[in-house]
Amino acid sequence: MRFSILSSGSTGNATLIEYGESRILLDAGLGVKRMEQLLLERGVKPDGLSCVFVTHEHSDHVRGLGALARKYKLPVYANRKTWNELDRAVGDLAEEQRKFFDTGETMDVGGLTVESFPISHDAAEPVAYNFHAGGTKLSIATDIGYMSPVVKKKIRGANVLVLEANHDIHMLRVGKYPWNVKRRILSDVGHLSNEAAGEALCELISERTKRVYLAHLSRDHNVLDLAKLTVNNILRESGVMAEERQVRLMDTYYDRSTAWDSVEDA
Ligand SMILES: [Zn+2]
Ligand SMILES: [Zn+2]
Repeated sequence: MRFSILSSGSTGNATLIEYGESRILLDAGLGVKRMEQLLLERGVKPDGLSCVFVTHEHSDHVRGLGALARKYKLPVYANRKTWNELDRAVGDLAEEQRKFFDTGETMDVGGLTVESFPISHDAAEPVAYNFHAGGTKLSIATDIGYMSPVVKKKIRGANVLVLEANHDIHMLRVGKYPWNVKRRILSDVGHLSNEAAGEALCELISERTKRVYLAHLSRDHNVLDLAKLTVNNILRESGVMAEERQVRLMDTYYDRSTAWDSVEDA
């Protein structure tokens, strides 16, 4: 299994996961042209996608979903409550393209196993996903107000983990957003801070974990280097990031994709 985060952040999210002949797009939060371009950069033709999985209905995750799915006749998977909200945003879609699942369900896409689980966020029924293939596990969890025991249990021990580090708490507090927006971001149904991501990772990283991507960074209230420094400091202080433990913190970008990353069991 290998993957590339095509775009990450409040301006648009999409991740490509590939295993054998299966190619899953997780969220489609960019314009169709941009998504086509990013896919082609990774050598994937958009009509070579197997399907799209959706985390939740916020526009930074579904902006180009309807147009992309219509153009390439892609099946789209989401839970029922998310579909209720998606109908308006996505527009006309053939009935056979609308695929429903129950949160917590595990699905098979050509040998690539997709496992959904609930997260805490201000959407109808938001989920995050684990991808399992060939004995390896990739966990992708963003848009998380707080780390619930369920989320921790689900993503612990991933070989590669993509975790939200949305904002620096201090930058957010002194930032320009109105207080009600700040309160929403900081709430249990908002976004995970750098500090919260670091603290969660102390429990989530296992001997199997090789890389952690810090994702969904706010452009207004975060800086990549600060996010990495904050998380790294917390991991070092807690003893999780010792010299002999090789866990690499990886960058994600809002304006370009990450290189293919092969998920392997070491
Ligand atoms: Zn969201
Ligand atoms: Zn988002």
